[in-house]
Amino acid sequence: MDKDRIIHLLVNEETDSLFQKADDVRRKHCGDEIHLRGIIEYSNHCRCLCAYCGLFADNHDLPRYRMNQEQILETALKAFNQGVRTIVLQGGEDTHFNADLLCEIIQDVKSIGDVAVTLSSGEFPRDDYQKMRDAGADRYLLKIETTNPEIYKRLHPGLSQENRIRCLHDLKELGFQTGSGALIGLPGQTIEDIADDILFCANLNLDMVTFSPFIPHPGTPLAKESGGDWLFSHKVLAVSRLAMPDAHIPCSTALASITPDDYKTSLKSGANVVMADLTPPEFVEYYDIYPGKAPTGDKKERDAVQRLKNIIAELGRPLAVNRGDSLIQ
Ligand code: SAM
Repeated sequence: MDKDRIIHLLVNEETDSLFQKADDVRRKHCGDEIHLRGIIEYSNHCRCLCAYCGLFADNHDLPRYRMNQEQILETALKAFNQGVRTIVLQGGEDTHFNADLLCEIIQDVKSIGDVAVTLSSGEFPRDDYQKMRDAGADRYLLKIETTNPEIYKRLHPGLSQENRIRCLHDLKELGFQTGSGALIGLPGQTIEDIADDILFCANLNLDMVTFSPFIPHPGTPLAKESGGDWLFSHKVLAVSRLAMPDAHIPCSTALASITPDDYKTSLKSGANVVMADLTPPEFVEYYDIYPGKAPTGDKKERDAVQRLKNIIAELGRPLAVNRGDSLIQ
């Protein structure tokens, strides 16, 4: 798919028809099964200054936490016993969780049984990624966030887009099932930029692709921006499915948090993956990357895995019982 076609689909294609096409492609290439991944947000410490993220280092109002190894293992084990076969370990860029510690955690989780481990731990040197792969990590998620170099530079002080791209190439070469994606609705971002983001992911032949709406966080420099639109975010999801028929595409947690219909539109417009937040109730509200992400009050105690299983059952689609490895040939 070329850039003009992507822009045409995003701007001109009638929404119902676009969603139907994406749903047809999803069914043909990925089947009807929905994959349920469980995410453990093990640390909200972060050395980075990403202007959109509530975890950014200058947010001194946020209480910081780190889960210990036992807590991580216990959380993963509970999810495994509920049938979850992919554990996603996500954290801020926390130097405490260096490659050696992450390797121990990977080995702990892999010792549970036939479970895939996905890391979402940010940028590391290639040698560290090699160690994590050797320790048994199967997958790695690292969003490019935006391919527009000016926007990237403006929103990521002290970071380099070249290094992020280097990380993605290293991860692919080391045999990780690799995921990337971008934020939708960043200040200054155009339709052309989004088309470039989709093409960037398609050209990398990624195993997993996530496009998420940017949701402004009141404690960040982007507090007053308007953020990504619900319908447009679904259109981007649908076009990414058309551009990347075999990729695993989740209803991102950001999209889920602005999705009033419990994932149903996303799962009917190209997505084939949902993510259950496994982070224990005592920590979950502090993984405050954007407002509305963390459950509060009664919801905090609710079982995220069971909730998603109920939604999948309501949709009449089968829940995958395998690890849901890459479909890319
Ligand atoms: N440190 C890891 C990394 O760099 O990939 C993972 C943690 S980071 C908090 C996970 C993701 O949160 C980022 O890739 C970013 O896209 C998303 N995120 C952060 N702030 C957001 C916001 N305000 N709205 C939507 N997504 C956001």
